[in-house]
Amino acid sequence: MTDDSPILVTGAAGFIGHAVSERLLARGERVIGLDSFTDYYDVALKKARTARLAGNFNFRLIDGDIASPGLVSELVEANGIRRIVHLAAQAGVRYSLENPFAYEHSNLKGHLAVLEAARHAGTVEHLVYASSSSVYGDRPIGGAGFREDEPCTAPVSLYAATKRSCELMSQSYATLYGLPLSGLRFFTVYGPWGRPDMAYYGFAQKILLGQPIEVFGEGRMARDFTYIDDIVDGIVGVLDRPPAGGENRLLNIGDCNPVGLMDMIATLERALGRPAIKLMRPMQPGDVTATYADISAINALTGYSPKVPLTQGIERFVDWYLGEIENGGRGPMAAVA
Ligand code: NAD
Repeated sequence: MTDDSPILVTGAAGFIGHAVSERLLARGERVIGLDSFTDYYDVALKKARTARLAGNFNFRLIDGDIASPGLVSELVEANGIRRIVHLAAQAGVRYSLENPFAYEHSNLKGHLAVLEAARHAGTVEHLVYASSSSVYGDRPIGGAGFREDEPCTAPVSLYAATKRSCELMSQSYATLYGLPLSGLRFFTVYGPWGRPDMAYYGFAQKILLGQPIEVFGEGRMARDFTYIDDIVDGIVGVLDRPPAGGENRLLNIGDCNPVGLMDMIATLERALGRPAIKLMRPMQPGDVTATYADISAINALTGYSPKVPLTQGIERFVDWYLGEIENGGRGPMAAVA
């Protein structure tokens, strides 16, 4: 589905936002990307991502904060926006223990500003927003896949609590104002142009430098690692299928294949051709033991089926990392060379 109104992508300088923007541009859509370039991680990486999009004349970048009063409303109304992919947020579980107010700002105030913009414009046909697997709370390894209709009442980090709050705020706006909304619960997204704060990325850097890596939870954790292209397939598939007005549809987007942390590290070691020096550490506050997506709901809606297994996805990440970051002179190996 394409129409001639531009799509607003918030968080377009982010890992997922830039990949979604790239896909939408490739199919001929016009995209307005909004991002405030927070310094949570390397701003130069965010600039490099948007530089890739800037060459496309259908892309316009706005450097601005979603929580700035009126900004999203102005953009929606001035550009006749009918579809929004709202991905801007303060991400990261552990950082939410250190800097809680960043989460209040972007994830609560910012999310509310996007809902308000959609409400007042009255023209929005679909608002897709990012939620997270963290809303499911702590679950043991070896259980069943998490289903969207399960109660999510025990977040173990402020990050998870703000993401669940986004879903609940959205529910109230769907009910009150008839908005068509889709909340997408992403499961540990990885791949080229990824986030340096995430474990696989930091591990790769340290393994290359010959430095030890800290393996939390004594390695007894599992994650449903989902490759970036699969996540983008899911987001765009959902975007193209708006729910009825008044519905706040919640959908998992994952790989449906949890992998143990030690297996992920072994996959990285093979891709890098180097062993990791592992320091086993206890579980960190805010972390959950396992994630595992049941993807039957999104599969039934869009035909979503993840295509890239972890081994292949990690190889693609390593190829990108070595070429773009290290050979580009922007990695820590360049700094120590
Ligand atoms: P990211 O940090 O790379 O991207 C988020 C972007 O939002 C950043 O570029 C940041 O500058 C921008 N931003 C933050 N606050 C803003 C504000 N107030 N105004 C404007 N821009 C702002 O993270 P990501 O991995 O691309 O995540 C995208 C979304 O998916 C987030 O909502 C995140 O919580 C969610 N999510 C990600 C994962 C994952 O594994 N990557 C998993 C679950 C959920």
